This record gives sequence, C-alpha cells and structure tokens, in this order.
Amino acid sequence: MINFDAYEVWFLTGSQHLYGSETLRRVDEHSRAMVEALGGSGRIPVRVVWRPVLTTPESIRAALSEASANRACIGVIAWMHTFSPGKMWINGLTALTKPLLHLHTQFNRDIPWSEIDMDFMNLNQSAHGDREFGHITARLRLPRTVIAGFWQDADVQERIGVWARAAAAVADMRGGGIARFGDNMRYVAVTEGDKVSAEITLGLGVNGYGVSDLAEVYDTVSPREADRLVHEYVEQYEFDDAVSRDPAQMARVGVQARIEIAMRRFLERGGFTGFTTTFEDLHGIPQLPGLAVQRLMADGYGFGAEGDWKQAALVRAMKVMATGLPGGTSFMEDYTYHMEPGRCLVLGAHMLEICPSIAAGKPRVEVHPLGIGGKDDPARLVFDGAGGDAINATLVDMGDRFRILVNEVKAVPPPSPMPKLPVARVTWIPKPDFTGGLEGWILAGGAHHTGYSTAIGSPHMEAFAAILGLEFLRLGEGTSIENFKRELLYSEAVSRSGARGAWCGSR
Ligand code: MN
Repeated sequence: MINFDAYEVWFLTGSQHLYGSETLRRVDEHSRAMVEALGGSGRIPVRVVWRPVLTTPESIRAALSEASANRACIGVIAWMHTFSPGKMWINGLTALTKPLLHLHTQFNRDIPWSEIDMDFMNLNQSAHGDREFGHITARLRLPRTVIAGFWQDADVQERIGVWARAAAAVADMRGGGIARFGDNMRYVAVTEGDKVSAEITLGLGVNGYGVSDLAEVYDTVSPREADRLVHEYVEQYEFDDAVSRDPAQMARVGVQARIEIAMRRFLERGGFTGFTTTFEDLHGIPQLPGLAVQRLMADGYGFGAEGDWKQAALVRAMKVMATGLPGGTSFMEDYTYHMEPGRCLVLGAHMLEICPSIAAGKPRVEVHPLGIGGKDDPARLVFDGAGGDAINATLVDMGDRFRILVNEVKAVPPPSPMPKLPVARVTWIPKPDFTGGLEGWILAGGAHHTGYSTAIGSPHMEAFAAILGLEFLRLGEGTSIENFKRELLYSEAVSRSGARGAWCGSR
C-alpha cells in the first residue's frame, strides 16, 4: 500500500543570461548529466526529473508553481550551477509548497591547476552562486534541507535519498489520514493533542469514528472469508499447539481474521493510512484487535493504541521512509526495565500490537486472556524482535508546538527466554547510555508510545522534521545530557520568542 513509483523529485538548475548562450548550453548539459547520475545511482528511491535551466524570475516562478501543483512531484532539488541572483527567486520560492533541498555542489570535481583560466572559473561558480541562493532562502525563513558535497559521492547521494524518503512521508501524510476507532484512553495526557494544529502544520487529517461503525462492517464479514484468512495465517506463522489443537481457540483466531477483514475494508473505503483503537471502547467487537492490528501494520498502516493518533501518524511516516529498506518498523511502548548493574536494558512491548516486520524469527500465533478491557481472549503474534541499531521516535504536543524526539538504541537479543510472556517484545539499550537515554527522554516529555524502527535512523527523522518545520531533538551516540538540557532550554526560549522560521511548525 506504499508505492514510490508514483513519486518524483524535480531537479532545478539556476543560472542567468549574463554568461551568453554557450555557457548556458553547457549548464544545461551538466545538469542533465547530474540528473542522470543521481537517478541511476540506486540511492534515491524516487524518480529524479530534469527540468529546464532557470534564468529569469518568470521561468522560476512558473517552475516552482508547477512543482507545487504537480501531484507526482514530492519535492524540488535546487542547485545554482552559476550565479543566479537571489531576488529572481523570491516570487517563485514564496509560491513553493513542496519540500526544498538545496544541493550545494559543483559539476567539476577537481580544479585543473595547470589549466585553470577565467572560462573555467565562470563555468564552475556554485561556490558563490549557491551562497546567494542560500542567503535568499535564509532571508525568507524557508524550511529547507542543505546538503553540501560532490554530487558523485555515495555519501551525498545517500543523504539526498534520505531527504527524498522524508519528502515521500510528508506527501503521504498530506494525502492520507488517520481513522480513530473510539477516543483517547481516559485521563491519559500524552496521547491527546490538538488535531486542528496537526492538520495545519502536518497536513494530517485525523477523524473519529464510533467503534459501532467498525462493528457494522465486522458483521458483514462472512465465515468463509474469515476461514480463508485463517488458512493464510496457518501458512505464514507458527501456531501454539494449545491453539491449533483446540477448535475453541481456533475460533478465537477466526475472530481476529474477521476483525482484520473488517478493519481493512473500513480503512480502504475511507482512504486511510493509519488508525487507532482503544481497549475502553470495543462495543460490538468481541476481542481487542491484536493479530489483526499486527498484520495491518505489517502491510504499511500506521497504528497507535489507546487513541494515540500522533503515534499512528508517525509509525505510518516511518514506514513510508523505510520503504524497500531492510529491517522493520512498529508501534512500540517502553514497558519494563532490567536494572542489573552493567547489563541494564529496556523491554519494549505492548498489550498485543507490535508489528511482525521487526521479528527475529517466524512469529507464533497464541491465544491468552487479556487482563484488562473485559473482552474475550484475543489471538496475537508472539515473537522476539531482531537485534541491531534501531530508533525510538515520538511525536508529542507541547501545547504551543509539536516536538519530535528520537532515541537511538541498540537492540540486543533478550538475555534469557521469556516462555511465560504472551506478547511480542524487543529488548534494547538506549544511547548514549541507559540512564542518559532515560533522563533525556523524561526531561523532554517524550511519550511512552513510540515508533520503533530498525530500518531508518535519526537522519530520516531529522529530515522529516525539517521539512515540516518541527522541533527535533535527538538522544543518541555522543549526546551529552548536560548539553541536551541546555538544548531543551534554548528550544523553549525560541518557541516563546515566536521567531519566524525557527520551526515553521510552531503555532
Ligand atoms: Mn499503550
């Protein structure tokens, strides 16, 4: 359900008429060669589309207006091959509604020391041409990403790829929406938030539905359809013997299949990209959606439990950014700690709803009673998460702005099997270290719900925040908690000052 084939980024080259037609011909040639190389690099996950060189205020305005209106275009890359006076760009840039990447590079890699003359200098002047462009984008306080370096370097191309993934997540967010089945878990603070501001600053549509709307669809799912899906489960997963040998337990698996079909139908009909549930409001649904939610997440839907629409949106965005990359992405909750000196770690899990894309092995279908909610025993997938580098990211509403907070973590295999724990789980060590990661997170007001990913990292989240103009905080490799505390203080001061352009996501 996430498809990058529909997406493209436009490559815009700036120049002017001062240099004569021969120079412009070569500018044209160079930018085509660059687009071809970037597009063919395999490091940028969407099409890179060459656009004619821009030399006048009229053509600039037309190109940026066209990019803004074009559905396939998810962002523009701007590069000033030569000097392109900044005032020519003002009307175009103020009309631009798509993410902007300023690529600061130069067509020619090396200075030809023994040959260099003024012709070479005139044709290779991005060093100052891009500074003029940088000035006008800074002066306009535009949300933008700047990447400097030689365009053929793998590192530069990778970074452009990261930005393109973030731009795709933003396009997806503006085109999708979150369906909330039921409201927020009663009295919980962090899962609440301003949905009007979310739509203004993130382009995110969040709307509520009665769980009875879902129950209506549930009632229309035929037993045959549910049976067919249970067969798929049997092929795809391991089954607990206590389930596969007991028709009553298998019937409970069938209930989850029915819930999955109903939810999928509801989400597809409404064009939704994510959803929330709450165990406090399940009238007409016999079990808390467990296996059903896990499978929908595996297919790319964003999910937040207990009405947490912000995390549903973030999980979806992270899944979009992770498209085609190894690893997985899930809704997550910091559940419990192991505080043995020298071997401290966090156990992450949820009541049921962890995405099997992060599993180390084949998930197993189990059925167990649920301590809360007063519903029938739900079927769920149980597994251990894979090890490796990962992130936990959260989107919180600070009242005057949205904040994205990321903790880089090292996922490790559980030090011991947990045969009595009936839910999917992951164990990890926060960075920069156990207590530092915890203290920073608590000080920043980070939620207990996160998007967890082994497929993407902090750079993706930072690029995503930068496009949306959101406050971005990172706790990870090399973070000093002393500096992090100061960063929080500065952030607060910036937010209260209302400085335009600091985060355009402020309100
Ligand atoms: Mn929860």
